[in-house]
Amino acid sequence: MQPVSIQQIPVGPMANFSYLIVDKETKKAAYIDPGWEAEKVINFATKEGITIEKILLTHTHFDHIQELEQAYNRLKVPVYVHGIEAGVIEEMGVPVNALADNEKLKVGGLNLDCIHTPGHTPGALCFKVDQHLITGDTLFVDGCGRVDLPGSDPDLMFESLKKLSLLPEETIVYPGHDYGPTPTDTLGHQKKTNPYLSASMQGKDVFFGRRGV
Ligand SMILES: [Zn+2]
Repeated sequence: MQPVSIQQIPVGPMANFSYLIVDKETKKAAYIDPGWEAEKVINFATKEGITIEKILLTHTHFDHIQELEQAYNRLKVPVYVHGIEAGVIEEMGVPVNALADNEKLKVGGLNLDCIHTPGHTPGALCFKVDQHLITGDTLFVDGCGRVDLPGSDPDLMFESLKKLSLLPEETIVYPGHDYGPTPTDTLGHQKKTNPYLSASMQGKDVFFGRRGV
């Protein structure tokens, strides 16, 4: 087990979560999704003696990136997003590093895995450290991200949820929005209570029958 602490920080008016993935030994951290209240998140890190060394993006919807520029200007640390969505960040004038499926990143001494989970957006990523899984808008507690938006793909969402369902039961899901009855849950419990996740495990017909898409 790696010395990791996940700070879940509620931000903004749309029930978003920003996260800090903190290496407890070095106090270095990755800041996930500066959508709102970047100053609050950065000030929290400073107060706790945490040094943010990377900014990671689960995807490029405005409610996950609109304070990226402020955060970048203040922190001047590398920014990472899936390559398919890197153009959105380049257009903002923020230098960006492109990630791909299965890529590994270091946060302090921590090893972090990038898991490509397209469906909500083409370049949606989940970030995993040991049993902790940051799921962005792919998997919510008892829900999943919308697939009726430009760039969404219900077939890919089905495949991505199926892929996540294969992770260990004790995996803890940290969603991009606080839409469920609890702010986090285990994957094992989600397999029982999340209708989209459980349907994805039962096959395409069940998934699409239940979603009605
Ligand atoms: Zn989104």
